[in-house]
Amino acid sequence: MTKQWQCTVCGYIHEGDAPPVNCPVCGADRSLFVLLEAEQTVAETAPALQLHLHPILVHFPNGLMPVVWLFLFMDWGFNRSALAEGAFWMVGVVTLAAPLALASGIYDWKTRFGGEKAPIFYRKIALASVLIILGSLALPIHLYGGAGMQVFYYLCLTGMLGCVGLLGFYGGKLAFSRPSRQ
Ligand SMILES: [Zn+2]
Repeated sequence: MTKQWQCTVCGYIHEGDAPPVNCPVCGADRSLFVLLEAEQTVAETAPALQLHLHPILVHFPNGLMPVVWLFLFMDWGFNRSALAEGAFWMVGVVTLAAPLALASGIYDWKTRFGGEKAPIFYRKIALASVLIILGSLALPIHLYGGAGMQVFYYLCLTGMLGCVGLLGFYGGKLAFSRPSRQ
């Protein structure tokens, strides 16, 4: 029977005689893999989705930023300025929710993932910090910046969309870091 090795950092499960040199998901060293006993099922050891606060909170930035851009394009296409104003308020919601998502993510990192110093966690913290900074710049620029400054508003919103895209990509790696069971 094939041995199963679990990454203690992210929960990734590797099948084979020995653990991989580095975890393909989070990059943890092979010394951080543990051999799973035969009677342990994947369901029992699954670390993901047991604490739901962070997955819930990240829906605000991850879900709203694409809608912000949808509204902006619809405003440009149909000349409905109410849509642009709605987009502005959504940027406000994202900017308020992002620190809560970051805090809950750090909490999960410290509890579920043991505060392991893997690059994926630092990348996520850095991206969330950039997201918060860009949101904090975008809002006053749009309100007080005047017509000549609005290009920076759109640059901030472009960066924010990139941040939530990458954050979702890395978050998905952590939440679903197990092989498909054939
Ligand atoms: Zn891992």
